[in-house]
Parts: sequence; C-alpha cells; structure tokens
Amino acid sequence: MSINTDYFREILQDRQTVVLDDVGRHMNELASDREATSLRDVTDTKDASFASAVAGIRQAGLQREAEELEDIRGALARIDNGVYGQCIVCEAPIPEERLEAWPTAKRCRPCQQEHEQARARRA
Ligand SMILES: [Zn+2]
Repeated sequence: MSINTDYFREILQDRQTVVLDDVGRHMNELASDREATSLRDVTDTKDASFASAVAGIRQAGLQREAEELEDIRGALARIDNGVYGQCIVCEAPIPEERLEAWPTAKRCRPCQQEHEQARARRA
C-alpha cells in the first residue's frame, strides 16, 4: 500500500491558500507594506524568507496561522523527500484515514499520544 501523495499535496496546497487568504485579510487590516511583502515570501521556496515571513505573521498576533503554515510546509517537504505518511519518531506508516483527517500529521497515533503527554507534563 502506498499513499497517493499527489492527492495529499493538493489538499495541503489548497489549505495553504486558505490560510494565506486569512492571514492576508488580517494583514490588510494592519496595512503595512512590509507585512504585505513578508506574506508573499511565505510561498517562496527559500527557507530563510519563509522563516522571516512566518515571524512577521507571528508578530501580527496570528500564532495559530503561523503554526499551521509551518505544519503545512513541513508536510509538503516530507512529500518531496518521499517520507510523507511515515512517523517522524518510529518511522511506522501513518494510516491513510489518519492523514485524511489530519493531512499534516507527522506522528503515528501512539507517538502522538506520547508527545502530547510529555508536553502536558512539561506545562
Ligand atoms: Zn510512531
């Protein structure tokens, strides 16, 4: 069984467009040329401009959107690297139903639970 990465790439890119539209609306309310520029950089392929664009989005108070854009970009990078749908911790295949429900999932269910428990303990 192999994952249809073209299908997930499309889902991820569509979601990225939606999030960027959202961010764009918020940024327009703030209306600054610098922020408009940084938003354009989110779709740039260079890591440095992506990082600075996401920092700009965070600065605008859009923490959740910034995180989602990072997750989407990470998932797209895993598709490019041929490791999409593989747990980043134990390398087990992530079930396709899980990816359907959560296309940016990077851990299998047990590893995700472990991760969330560890985070809860730290908090
Ligand atoms: Zn795992």
